[in-house]
Amino acid sequence: MTPSPEPAPVLPDVDVEWMTQVLVDLARIPSPTGRTDQVMQYVGDLLVDELGLDVALTRRGAMVATLGGVQDSPDRAVIVHSDTIGAMVREVLPSGRLALVPVGTHSARFAEGSRVTIFTDEPGVVHTGTILPTMASGHAFGDAIDTQGVGWDHVEVRIDAHVRSPEDTAALGIRVGDHVAMQALPEVTPTGFVKSRHLDDKAGIAAVLAGVRGLLRAEVELPVTAHLLVTISEEVGHGASHGLHTDVAEMVSVDAAVVAPGQASTETGVTIAMQDLHGPFDYHLTRKLLRLGEAHGLEVHRDVFRYYRSDVAAALEAGAETRAALIGFGVDATHGFERTHLDSLRQTAELVALYLQTDLTFESWDQRRSGQLADFPSRSVQPADKGPVLDEDGAPPAPSPSPADG
Ligand SMILES: [Zn+2]
Repeated sequence: MTPSPEPAPVLPDVDVEWMTQVLVDLARIPSPTGRTDQVMQYVGDLLVDELGLDVALTRRGAMVATLGGVQDSPDRAVIVHSDTIGAMVREVLPSGRLALVPVGTHSARFAEGSRVTIFTDEPGVVHTGTILPTMASGHAFGDAIDTQGVGWDHVEVRIDAHVRSPEDTAALGIRVGDHVAMQALPEVTPTGFVKSRHLDDKAGIAAVLAGVRGLLRAEVELPVTAHLLVTISEEVGHGASHGLHTDVAEMVSVDAAVVAPGQASTETGVTIAMQDLHGPFDYHLTRKLLRLGEAHGLEVHRDVFRYYRSDVAAALEAGAETRAALIGFGVDATHGFERTHLDSLRQTAELVALYLQTDLTFESWDQRRSGQLADFPSRSVQPADKGPVLDEDGAPPAPSPSPADG
């Protein structure tokens, strides 16, 4: 059995200006893991009012929007996450300043200098501040500022209020366990770069919504119903461990691709992740996405992420029986002072829109949860070799023409 022939998906118009505004709006709404209600209100309003989709929320607050297709079951999911890295108040220091624990995995090195918002338990009562190294002034500490260690024990929050003691801080309503969000401070340059914290994964949400909006405006009929799942705790590892429909046959997470020396991802292209910390992604779905992007002239890269986890890993670990892949927009300095380019976000939106117009990876095989060995579709790309691997002299057999990839 060969993979399903691709229909001819159309490249929809992605409204880059709209996408950029959504991204900037999202970036300006703080959403550290554990405090995502406000950003989910914004995303939900966009899905309902702007895109006209039905949405439902899980008990804990993950959101599922549904894009109807010709075939309703099994179907597919595209996954993004609304939460970001952040911090929490660990201790109010004798100075009244705040010691922090990180929320999500990130280095205090890149927290130094961050403007922050501190949320108290009182609705609407927030304070601002700055994360500083404990030795924050060369005039006071001389060369010691260059040899001070890096880590969460070496930073503290200076609150923008008259605070000299723990009592002063308590009077502001700030307590242990309060969420601290690093302000994103988004900026779009005339050259098309977007500099902001938390592009991971707010740029993913903006790109997916822009791709879906392009499809809806073009009135394209989808062959397969798609669920858009917006998760709220990816940065601490739970991600899409819940919220996925039970009859999802394949899922694609859209998240940051790592731009750094030794990585193939770029700030201008779109990446298909071949493997992350949790292992390889689905062979066939991954290659289908690569073919789709290449056939439509996108700048597509294959990359491998060594210290990386996404919603996909959480879903698979939770037992989701689906093909899984990851589309990435290129982000430089991930979980730090991030930057991407609108070209990357546009192509991510385009690839998502193209993907949503395709049949399931193996149109007939993927209809059922299981089937017969003779029908298992991998035979076309990974045929069982009946001959010996090595000849009598221990030499490999003469090469034979390899089957086409996919
Ligand atoms: Zn992410």
